Amino acid sequence: MIVMKFGGSSVESAAAIERVAGIVKARVERRPVVVVSAMGKTTNKLLAIAAAAIEGKRHEYIGQLHDLRDFHSREARLVVPLAERAELDRTLDDHFQELTELVKGLAVLGELTPRSIDAISSYGERLSSYIVTLAFRHFGMKTEHLDSRHVIVTDKRHTQAAPNFPETYARLRAKVIPLAQEHVVVMGGFIGSTENGVTTTLGRGGSDFTASIVGAGIGAEEIQIWTDVDGMLTADPTILAGGHRVKTISFDEAAELAYFGAKVLHPATVVPAIEKNIPVLILNSRRPDVPGTRIIAETVACDNVVKSIACKRKITVVNIQATRMLMAHGFLHRIFEVFDRYETAVDMVSTSEVSVSLTIDNTKSVDAILKELREFAEASVEHHQAIVCLVGENIRFTPGVARRVFNSLDGINIRMISQGASLLNISFVVAEADVHRTVEALHEEFFAELDPEVFERNEAVHA
Ligand code: ADP
Ligand code: ASP
Ligand code: MG
Repeated sequence: MIVMKFGGSSVESAAAIERVAGIVKARVERRPVVVVSAMGKTTNKLLAIAAAAIEGKRHEYIGQLHDLRDFHSREARLVVPLAERAELDRTLDDHFQELTELVKGLAVLGELTPRSIDAISSYGERLSSYIVTLAFRHFGMKTEHLDSRHVIVTDKRHTQAAPNFPETYARLRAKVIPLAQEHVVVMGGFIGSTENGVTTTLGRGGSDFTASIVGAGIGAEEIQIWTDVDGMLTADPTILAGGHRVKTISFDEAAELAYFGAKVLHPATVVPAIEKNIPVLILNSRRPDVPGTRIIAETVACDNVVKSIACKRKITVVNIQATRMLMAHGFLHRIFEVFDRYETAVDMVSTSEVSVSLTIDNTKSVDAILKELREFAEASVEHHQAIVCLVGENIRFTPGVARRVFNSLDGINIRMISQGASLLNISFVVAEADVHRTVEALHEEFFAELDPEVFERNEAVHA
């Protein structure tokens, strides 16, 4: 068995779904279990509808709901056989009626809770998985739909739920394995439910995580993440065009890149894959013949020091200075206790004798945090910063990496620097306005020469 996950852009239209059907059909002998994201930007649209509802913008959310229904109906009709159209319409009606009632309820309450966000955003994957199921049948595959909420059991942390692995694995084994013997099984990514059956989600981008949970649960031989790029690239293509394809990378390196902003993979994806030692592949649904990136447990011998450069934008730096000259015993503890209480994750930290700088990306509680910090220290913030992170197993064995970074960034102000405790990354903070320049300079420095065993040169841009 293999798991094949298709992201939003891979199922954004009838044409895209037809492409996906072709890709799956060509691998049907490997008994694929298919995990799909919501179609295109549906999750964002659902969240916008919820936001309009609590602001009482009735005209707006009713219009948006109509558009979303039209979009799903229009694309689905092109890939669903005539004989099934009536059933399709009925199911779309049911889903959109339910969704509309939910949204109207929110408008009355004027308040959006994490639980209701999950209820609303779950419709994207519920609809896409249903439509893809009908489409696969239309294209001649024996296909069964499985509601992910019946198998992915999570805690109650709505919008960021964590799976109960033993229970989820048991259900996946019991339900998916028998079904997959004779059928292509199609499931929605991202969604799950609590033990009491309340709908939850695994966090934005969470369909990758669903794919690896399913893969680990059924003991798949491979987890394939089909997306809109040729694989893991040496730089984020939204920042720098012309990154090269990384052919093979370790779980540790991929996890680090994902954590530091490489959106191509949700950071939690590697966790179940590592546990069961299942290779994860990143593949392009528009260019299925490209071999993509293979993520595996073993470290890959490589002549390059760095495998890829990740960036996290919209970062805020918090500077904290002890009011007394020396940092008293317990100072760091008091600082982190405040961040902890406001459930605000800290990514990078650097300290000197009297000051601490740290970065956060969730600024929801930053004002309250500052107020509390100022009870025992001076504190200030700088917005519009970015973390740039070089990742590669060789960083730990190669002297002079920091020197090469500093030399190539001549003229760019580096605000903080840390060589991660994991030893396989060097990360630093620059102003967001400098990110492109920074990545360009580093890419030139570290990827002018490429180990052909590990990288495929992007000839289009570097000809
Ligand atoms: P999907 O909808 O298929 O899950 P995502 O948008 O979540 O797709 O992830 C794919 C995107 O990740 C790419 O289009 C690309 O812009 C971005 N990305 C960021 N960093 C990298 C990287 N190092 N390599 C490849 N893609 C990256
Ligand atoms: N549809 C969800 C999102 O947009 C999950 C995913 O696509 O991975 O965040
Ligand atoms: Mg994604």
